[in-house]
Amino acid sequence: MIFTTRFAPSPTGPLHLGHAFSALLASDLARQHEGQFLLRIEDIDRTRARSHWEEQIYDDLSWLGLTWPEPVLRQSTRMEVYEIALQQLWSRGLLYPCTCNRRDIAAATSAPQEGAPLLGPDGIVYPGTCREKAVRSGPMPRDIPLRLDMQKAAQTVKVKSEFHFFETGCGPCGSTGRVSFSDRELTDTIGDVVLSRRDMGTSYHLSVVLDDAAQNVTHVVRGQDLFDATRIHVVLQVLLDLPQPIYHHHKLIRDDAGKRLAKRDDARAISKYRDEGVSPADIRAMVGLDHR
Ligand code: GLU
Ligand code: ZN
Repeated sequence: MIFTTRFAPSPTGPLHLGHAFSALLASDLARQHEGQFLLRIEDIDRTRARSHWEEQIYDDLSWLGLTWPEPVLRQSTRMEVYEIALQQLWSRGLLYPCTCNRRDIAAATSAPQEGAPLLGPDGIVYPGTCREKAVRSGPMPRDIPLRLDMQKAAQTVKVKSEFHFFETGCGPCGSTGRVSFSDRELTDTIGDVVLSRRDMGTSYHLSVVLDDAAQNVTHVVRGQDLFDATRIHVVLQVLLDLPQPIYHHHKLIRDDAGKRLAKRDDARAISKYRDEGVSPADIRAMVGLDHR
């Protein structure tokens, strides 16, 4: 299997320094291992994806000196694949419909005796309001969010082992080793995540695992902020019988105040630096890839 990394941005805003770091690191690792670096456009959120942001991504990455094979995989062309996987999970009783919104979830978790609601990778851990009452038989409902029954998923996955593992590392700034997590952690700290969002027919979690598998990605290079999401991805890989890549979670690039960069931090946009006359080599130095 050829060593394969990828950079998978969503065209919903400008790429900033953190993205540059992720992309450069993924590309460097592939080069060091005589492998390949892929670009994938994660444009499933049709309400937020814009073609001008996609153009800007190609432009910024080329300017940084990155190259990738064409054509680029765009998630919006893969809806059928996502649908088939959802159907598979639905037919095994692993999904259930739920229309609770953020406010419902906040209300359900705010009882005084409960303490502060626990935060998972997708916000407050879902309290399971609809889990028992939802109908799970018949045709898969459409245009309604579908959640993964994490307890059932964990039990299914347990057939293989009681602990779930993923490997991390390889490269200059990540530790190397195996990370394990238990069923209990899955149900208590992640919970029933949404796998099919309304208006999307899929979700980041589902699409990303299916696409990494379809593109034979062997090493996923991503920010430390996605560490918990990786656990969801590992569970989905087992459920859907997909290979598990090695995960390299890298440090986050922070602003001068030590705050993590957000999509909205246009001040750190690559395009802004370009306008100011900063060079690609300067960017590499700024994110700590080269010392100057
Ligand atoms: N589209 C995701 C993002 O931009 C991909 C991250 C990942 O799965 O590594 O955050
Ligand atoms: Zn609900």
